[in-house]
Amino acid sequence: MKDIFCRIIEGEIPSAKVYEDEEVLAFLDITQSTKGHTLIVPKAHYENYLSTPPELLAHVLEVAQKVGKAQIEAFGAKGTNILSNAGEAAGQSVMHFHLHVIPRYDETDGVHMSFDEHQGTDLQDVASKIKESL
Ligand code: AMP
Repeated sequence: MKDIFCRIIEGEIPSAKVYEDEEVLAFLDITQSTKGHTLIVPKAHYENYLSTPPELLAHVLEVAQKVGKAQIEAFGAKGTNILSNAGEAAGQSVMHFHLHVIPRYDETDGVHMSFDEHQGTDLQDVASKIKESL
């Protein structure tokens, strides 16, 4: 079965489009976690950023930059977050690669992201394991 973003791209399901070119569609996230929250989606189906060809990934990011600047211009956002969830464990619910571009207004705008610190991690050991896998 086609995922919901494939159906939006094919026009089977309506969306509030903000940008479109041959490779990419950008439309408003239905939740509007903050005013202007936009999804940047490649038209070709890839499950998440890990399986997306690097050139297309770069183009999606290029569009995210344009949209982020437009959100600031249109709504006076004070900043933006870009976010891509890859895998269920990371919170991905639609298995079609997308970048969230989330305008930020202030610390009470309803978006909460925090990172717990894990004391005692051997940074050099962790870094060397990642390096070995690159
Ligand atoms: P993620 O959890 O990172 O996979 O994000 C999927 C996003 O898609 C969520 O933020 C949903 O609100 C959004 N979403 C799901 N269905 C629609 C839809 N029909 N139109 C716009 N956004 C949608």
